[in-house]
Amino acid sequence: MSVSNSSLTVRVWPAIVRAVSGRCPACGGGKFFKSYLRQVDRCSVCGESFGQIHADDGPAWLTIGIVGHVVVPILLFTETNYNSPFWISMTVWPLTALALTLTILPRAKALFIAAIWAMKAPGIE
Ligand SMILES: [Zn+2]
Repeated sequence: MSVSNSSLTVRVWPAIVRAVSGRCPACGGGKFFKSYLRQVDRCSVCGESFGQIHADDGPAWLTIGIVGHVVVPILLFTETNYNSPFWISMTVWPLTALALTLTILPRAKALFIAAIWAMKAPGIE
């Protein structure tokens, strides 16, 4: 999939892949995040601007969907088929959900911002 305007054709999927891997969606050279969930205002390599793009609730929605669909079925299967001690159940599953959430959330934000940027979609101020 590609989106074109008068002077530039931007391929959407490569931009998303670069952003999810933590690199600039435009050039793939500069860093995409300046902190855990804060994207850079401008790429240090190509100068493309990302600070004005807002992903809103999209990354949280995607993260909840993925974590819920991964953790809950495994939790239900394990808890119904194996007799694990209560304290293990009360530590393993919340920590698993927390680790997955902290891993997926910045990547989900990068995905949404890269898609918004590549498609010149609403969300850019
Ligand atoms: Zn760049």
